[in-house]
Amino acid sequence: MNNTLDWFRKWADYQPDKTAVKDAMSGRSLSYGDIDTAGNALAAHLRENHGIVMGDRVAIVAENHLAQVILFAVAQKTGIILVPINFRLAPREIEVLLTDSECKLAYTDGCVPTKELKVDTVFKDLASVYGFVRKEAPAVAEPELTENAPVFILYTSGTTGLPKGALYTHKMLFWNSINTTQSLSINNDTVTLNCMPLFHTGGWNVLLTPVLHRGGTIILFKKFDALAVLNCIVEEKLDLFMAVPTMLKMMTELPEFDTTDIGCLNYIVVGGESMPLKLIAIFHCKKVPIRQGYGLTEVGPNLTSLHQNDAERKQGSIGKPNFYVDVKILDESGETAEPDVPGEILIGGPMVTPGYWQNEAATHRAKQGRWLCTGDIGKIDAEGFIYVLDRKKNMYISGGENVYPAEVERALLAHPNVKEAVVIAAPHEKWGECGIAFLVSGTKISEKDIKGHCLENLAKFKVPFQFHFLDKIPKGDTGKIDRKKIQRDYLKGIPD
Ligand code: ATP
Repeated sequence: MNNTLDWFRKWADYQPDKTAVKDAMSGRSLSYGDIDTAGNALAAHLRENHGIVMGDRVAIVAENHLAQVILFAVAQKTGIILVPINFRLAPREIEVLLTDSECKLAYTDGCVPTKELKVDTVFKDLASVYGFVRKEAPAVAEPELTENAPVFILYTSGTTGLPKGALYTHKMLFWNSINTTQSLSINNDTVTLNCMPLFHTGGWNVLLTPVLHRGGTIILFKKFDALAVLNCIVEEKLDLFMAVPTMLKMMTELPEFDTTDIGCLNYIVVGGESMPLKLIAIFHCKKVPIRQGYGLTEVGPNLTSLHQNDAERKQGSIGKPNFYVDVKILDESGETAEPDVPGEILIGGPMVTPGYWQNEAATHRAKQGRWLCTGDIGKIDAEGFIYVLDRKKNMYISGGENVYPAEVERALLAHPNVKEAVVIAAPHEKWGECGIAFLVSGTKISEKDIKGHCLENLAKFKVPFQFHFLDKIPKGDTGKIDRKKIQRDYLKGIPD
C-alpha cells in the first residue's frame, strides 16, 4: 500500500479527534479518526461481501452526504474508483453512465428510481455507509496503488455535448490540492463550507479535498441554500468561501443580504463562469474582495487565481496560473500567440488528466502531448494576466467577424435594468450568423433602449439582431447557463 495516498491515515495519526466534515443542517460530524476507521471497515466489507477490489468502479448517485467522504477514504485506501453521478439525470441517462463506467456497485439515497434501471449494478443505500463509523477494523493492506491510478471518473456535465468520463488520478488530486492550498492559503486552521454538488468537480476538488488534504474542517451542505449559507458564513465566522456566480447572485437577492455583515470573509473565490462586474461591485461595497478563478474538470480543476490586489485593475481577468500550472495560448496558425492575441487556451502540469474513460477518440482530440486543449478561447496580456473570452463552440462569425457571446452578455449586463443575459448564435441570411439575446429584466426595457445601449458599448456587428425577454434563464445543476436548452426551447420558434 502506498500510504502517501491515504491522507486520512496520516491525519488520524496526527489529529484523530479533529472534525473533518460537519453536516450543515444536522450538525452531525466526522472526525479524521472516524473517517479513517470507517474507511478501513467499509473497505474490508466491500472486499469480503461484494468482491470489490482495486480498480473496480463504485458509483454515488445522491445529494451531498457525509457518507460520501467515507467512500472517498475507501478509494484512497484501496484504489477503487468512485463515479459520482448527477442524481437529477433521467433514469435512462443514469443507465448510460453506469453502463459506460461498468460500475459493480452504486450508492444512492432514494433520489433515483433504481428499480427502473436496466443495469448490472448492485444498488446500496448510501446511509448504510454510516453504519461503519467507529467499527474497528485493521488498516487496509492492498496491492501497491500508484499515483497514476484513477480515484474518480468525473463525467463532464455535458453543457456542450454527450458526457465524457474524465479520468481523475490520485496524482491530479494531490497537485490540485497543492495548487489550491498554496493559492488560497488553506491550512489545518481553515474552516469553510462546501455547497457545491459532489457529483461535479466543483464539489470534490474545488474545496472539499484541498481542505481535507490540509487537515482543515468542511461544513457540508446537502445542496445550496442561499439563506442558510449566508447565516453559516456569519455564525461560523468563515474567512474563505467558494461559489459560482449564480449562487452569489441568489444571496444578494435575499432581503437579509443588505443588513448582514460578511466582513469576516477575507475573500470569496468564484469560478465556473465569468462573474458579472455588477455583482463584483456589490461585494466590493461590502468590503469583501472577489477572487476570480478558472478551471475545468479535466485539469485539476483549479488553474488560476486573480489576487484581490489586482481585482479592480484587472477586472474581467481570471488572473495568473497557480504555482504548478502551465498555460499557453495557441493562435489560429497553431503557434504560441503574442500578448493580447486570442487563441485556444492549453493547460500543462501534473494535474492534467491522462484522458477519458474508454474513449480514445475523445482523449486524442483533447490532448496534445502533455497539454490539454480546453476548448476555451482566451488571451494573455503583456503582464501575464489571462482573460477567458468564451468557449470555442459558443463563438460565432457574423459578416466575417468573430463574436464572443460572453463579451456581448457582459455589455448587456451593464445595462442598469438587465438582470441576466444570454446570447445565442442563429443563422442569418445576410451575415451568415447573428446573435439573439435572451434577457431577464427588472423593470420593462424597450427594444429601442437596449439596442441603443448595445450600440453605445459594442461594435455594430456584435449587437444582437433580436431581443427576447424571459422570466428566468435555464440553468444546469452547477448554476451554469444551459445554452443547449435555450437553443432547443426557443430558437426553433423564432422567425428570421
Ligand atoms: P462540458 O461538459 O461542455 O465540457 P462543463 O461546464 O460541463 O462543460 P466543466 O469542467 O464543469 O465543464 O467547466 C469548465 C468550463 O467552464 C471551462 O472550460 C470554461 O468554459 C468555463 N469556466 C470555468 N471557469 C470560468 C471563468 N472563470 N470564466 C469563464 N469561463 C469559465
